[in-house]
Amino acid sequence: MALPVVFPEKHHLHVPDGEIWVGVRIEGTELPARGDVIADALTRTGYRLQPPQPIDDSALHAVHAPELVDFLRTAWKRWQQSGYPKDPGQGQVVPYAFPLTAITSGRQPRRPVSIGALTGMFAMDTMTLISEGTWEAARDAAAAALTAAGLVAGGERAAYAAVRPPGHHAGSSFYGGACYMNNAALAADRLRTAGMSPVAVIDLDAHHGNGTQEIFYATDGVRYGSVHIDPAAGYFPHWLGFADETGEGAGSGANLNLPLAPGSGDEIWLEAVRQLVDFSSGSRSLVVSLGVDAWMTDPESPLQVSVDGYRTAGIMLGKRELPTVIVQEGGYDLTMLGELVVAFLAGFQMAAS
Ligand SMILES: [Zn+2]
Repeated sequence: MALPVVFPEKHHLHVPDGEIWVGVRIEGTELPARGDVIADALTRTGYRLQPPQPIDDSALHAVHAPELVDFLRTAWKRWQQSGYPKDPGQGQVVPYAFPLTAITSGRQPRRPVSIGALTGMFAMDTMTLISEGTWEAARDAAAAALTAAGLVAGGERAAYAAVRPPGHHAGSSFYGGACYMNNAALAADRLRTAGMSPVAVIDLDAHHGNGTQEIFYATDGVRYGSVHIDPAAGYFPHWLGFADETGEGAGSGANLNLPLAPGSGDEIWLEAVRQLVDFSSGSRSLVVSLGVDAWMTDPESPLQVSVDGYRTAGIMLGKRELPTVIVQEGGYDLTMLGELVVAFLAGFQMAAS
């Protein structure tokens, strides 16, 4: 099987230039080099990369509130006009105050005038900075995921969107965790509207995909299953990813979280992947959120998954024989990122062919 790969060239316009973490500017790991490393590894392995089809912003409204899309589209320019780059000297969009519902006794907070305050209505953390090219890159990543989903809806057995920035922490009306638009959720929605539901989203990233969970938590057309580092052990996204989050309303029972202890390796992780494969039974199509940061020396996670582990996960998901969109999420060890992605894809194609 020749797997189509959609690669958004504009990813390099998103240069986060650090993160603000516990109040300190750190270097960060969601770097433009990630996209280049993946593209190089794919090209060397013989994959042909194709560009995304252009989209209108309205395509993003399928899973995101127009207010979030408008904010992200205009935030950097408004920030420049606000004067913050000169006084106090912050050139990137970063929140400083957050409208917790407790502040307004549970009422919807008023929309503030200041862009500095408005940012706190959409950002879930201070780590996810907006720079000059962030929106263009995030939009191109979303377009790539939609293009890959369109190929699968049009009859391709599978397609891979080799995107950055990642997406699974971004929800219907918030961004964070280095994510702006939820690429995997957009792909799942595209499959759903093409009549391929129920769709199963299987999230292999080392962190819980709180945004994808939130978007589909109360819907029955898309189920979400994730294996990730246990938030109770102190890991992002901290408030979400627990086993008792099982969906609600029409989505009751359609959400499965499998949190793992730090240090968990192939045996435990692959058993969780097996449970996710079981969870996807009855689905008519699949979206894989392919984070490879469960890799043993990834700087962002204490899981201990090997290259063989990712290859085996690819085999297990390929054997499902479902129309599948694979969407890149995390993976931050630049020396291994390409090899891990290629190993997963090789396993998937071996089983699927
Ligand atoms: Zn991650």
